[in-house]
Amino acid sequence: MQLTSFGAAQEVTGSAHLLEVNGKKILLDCGLFQGRRQESFDKNEANAKALKDADMIVLSHAHIDHSGNIPTLVKYGYKGPIYTTMATADLCGIMLLDSAHIQEKDWEYLQDHGMPMVSESPLYSTENAEEAQKLFVGMKYNEEEDIAQGVKLILRDAGHILGSALVELHITENGQTKVLGFTGDLGRKNMPIIQDPYQWKQLDYLIAESTYGGRLHDSYVDVEEKLIGIINEAIKNNGKIIIPAFAVERTQEIVYHLNLLQKNLKIPCLPIYVDSPLAINATEIFRRHPECFDDETNKKFLDEKEDPFGFGCLKYTRTTEESKALNDKKGPMIIISASGMCESGRILHHLKNNIENSKNIILVVSFMAKDTLGRAIAEKHRIVRIFGRPYIRRAKVHNINAFSAHADHQELVDYVQQIKGLQHIFLVHGEPQAARAIHYALDDIKAASRITISHPKKTYKL
Ligand SMILES: [Zn+2]
Repeated sequence: MQLTSFGAAQEVTGSAHLLEVNGKKILLDCGLFQGRRQESFDKNEANAKALKDADMIVLSHAHIDHSGNIPTLVKYGYKGPIYTTMATADLCGIMLLDSAHIQEKDWEYLQDHGMPMVSESPLYSTENAEEAQKLFVGMKYNEEEDIAQGVKLILRDAGHILGSALVELHITENGQTKVLGFTGDLGRKNMPIIQDPYQWKQLDYLIAESTYGGRLHDSYVDVEEKLIGIINEAIKNNGKIIIPAFAVERTQEIVYHLNLLQKNLKIPCLPIYVDSPLAINATEIFRRHPECFDDETNKKFLDEKEDPFGFGCLKYTRTTEESKALNDKKGPMIIISASGMCESGRILHHLKNNIENSKNIILVVSFMAKDTLGRAIAEKHRIVRIFGRPYIRRAKVHNINAFSAHADHQELVDYVQQIKGLQHIFLVHGEPQAARAIHYALDDIKAASRITISHPKKTYKL
């Protein structure tokens, strides 16, 4: 067998690793490159042309940097199956359509404003995303599926987002069977709602992410205490708390915590609004997949026939009118809205309307990439630009850094340490510095294993 990384090699977007075995091409993930417009378009299109003849795709989870280039492959003729969990298949149903919509809108925007075009048409269309939906084959965790001659697939829970999977392939070549693991994105223990990551005990080969190499997260334990403090501050000032949150997972986690806090009478019943159509659709999919929930969520909610994502003080606002009406409502209240990095969507209107009022609070609960409005807010800049206009930030900013859905440096190293029999470890999905930090740490404890930081497009024989 041989392995070639077409994306997420010494970088963190565009996850796509091609495994060639017994004459079949198995593509692990088919993610979108995200970054500078022209460069991203070119990379996404080149990958689609190079990978459209794959025999099948195995998808680790629904995040766009892992799934978002599937419609481009479909546009260029890909017709094979896409194996993934049932929850991921459902999430992709809404996320790929949303991504197509963004591609189309972005393209139209450039055209309408006479800006330099990066392409003759959008990267892909709504039709391409709809066509892709038909190719998904939903699997249960821990079930075996023969996907090619001599290749058996098992999806294990990655504990990263709803439906996320660690990909386990049992590969028989020339009468010899080897087990290869691909982490996709490895989650963390003790996250709310979803289960802890499945621990592999024995593998021959591992393709491991390394996003947080060299970095550690805050402990998750005191999240609720921090939320209580921030909510009490808003109540005292009659202010609004604006929370930019990713529509999938982070929004549901925040809602879950607020639900528990109100249920346990730790905070009063102040109005809470989830103002993001994508988040509302994603929440519906969470409700459809209780098989992905952990024991705690079952005990605290489902056993008592309660909805983790619905309670008296919480309202989901779907229409534009409902969203606009929030401007005129007086605090205290909480508004959770997307996008997570404040680059588009309804969150921009809430920031514009509330950022200049010192009574209000902006609560940052996600990683904010460089050069985004979210980053400027997280770093507490005094002047920020929204819709191209400068605003004076008078609202207070609080950061809670504990919410990350990725294993940090130590969690990842501890995880790999427990896997016996590893002959070769490939490090992917990390900036060079992060991948190197993991490489050094693993070198010390995995002396018997070969460790490679994967180069883009370089083919490794196994
Ligand atoms: Zn992810």
